[in-house]
Amino acid sequence: FRKELEELKDLHAETKDGHLVELVGNIGTPNDIEGVHRNGGQGVGLYRTEFLYMDSHEMPSEEKQYDAYKKVVEGMENMPIIIRTLDIGGDKKLPYLQLDDELNPFLGLRAIRLCFAEKDLFKTQLRAILRASAHGKALIMFPMISNIEEVRQAKVILEECKSELDTEQIAYDKEIKVGIMVEIPSAAVCADIIAKEVDFFSIGTNDLCQYTLAVDRMNENVSYLYQPFNPAILRLVKNVIDASHAHKGKFTGMCGEMAGEPLAALILLGLGLDEFSMSASSIPQIKKIIRSVTLKEAQEIAKKALDLATADEVKQMVQLELNKLN
Ligand code: PEP
Ligand code: MG
Repeated sequence: FRKELEELKDLHAETKDGHLVELVGNIGTPNDIEGVHRNGGQGVGLYRTEFLYMDSHEMPSEEKQYDAYKKVVEGMENMPIIIRTLDIGGDKKLPYLQLDDELNPFLGLRAIRLCFAEKDLFKTQLRAILRASAHGKALIMFPMISNIEEVRQAKVILEECKSELDTEQIAYDKEIKVGIMVEIPSAAVCADIIAKEVDFFSIGTNDLCQYTLAVDRMNENVSYLYQPFNPAILRLVKNVIDASHAHKGKFTGMCGEMAGEPLAALILLGLGLDEFSMSASSIPQIKKIIRSVTLKEAQEIAKKALDLATADEVKQMVQLELNKLN
């Protein structure tokens, strides 16, 4: 079995009728890129940069960040690397950054909100990412976007950083693509509005489930309500993908756990997801599933899923379909 997955490494993530998708890895540090290569990943769909901050005793300097991002960008040899800007707050804290205690930290000053409040911190990171973009194919992704105004605000700050680098005659990729994580329901619902002002989406199902279903993603008492296959989630995912495709064929990826979940693969494929980003070790298994169907078959499965009333019904239906393939 392992050997079979090994052989998949160099094959395309392609359906029987030639529809290609991208299978890429989620990483937290430059060391993780080895696993992405080993499993045949075609790039990085989510580089969680917060580990660089959390593993440090002080705010990492622009130089230190640049070194890390450059290592990843160079190490992936011109494959796309989606670098997510800092997602701290919620349950993640930095010992050297004093913040108010909050009653509901997951609804508080988290991720992009914190970056707007700490603009210097944000600009330091953006400069480091921009500088790394001169060495390969980096893309920038903003987390926890809830509306179009935040997209605009983030882009204004990014432009400020670009102008500074221009003045200092420091190289960066002038065509660098800018996208957002869709992990807050308001962004998923208004994806058509936001699609006009970003280059891509990546759906963060971990938080999208938490916020849509009002279920703390870490709370065991309500974990039975944490349902990626809930019809509400499937409808939002469909809405996001359709909105991005409708606007100049922009791409939608997914970097939440659902992207590496075998039961979800056929539905996501059928809904038209362009890029699946997951822990590298899941890539071969998802590739195998994608290679076992035609796009049309997957579309029919997705259509059936959208007609069902509960998460359990959806899972049972896809399980039967998966069994048929084996
Ligand atoms: C997500 O929310 O789905 C996601 C990928 O981000 P994180 O798990 O880092 O919050
Ligand atoms: Mg998230």
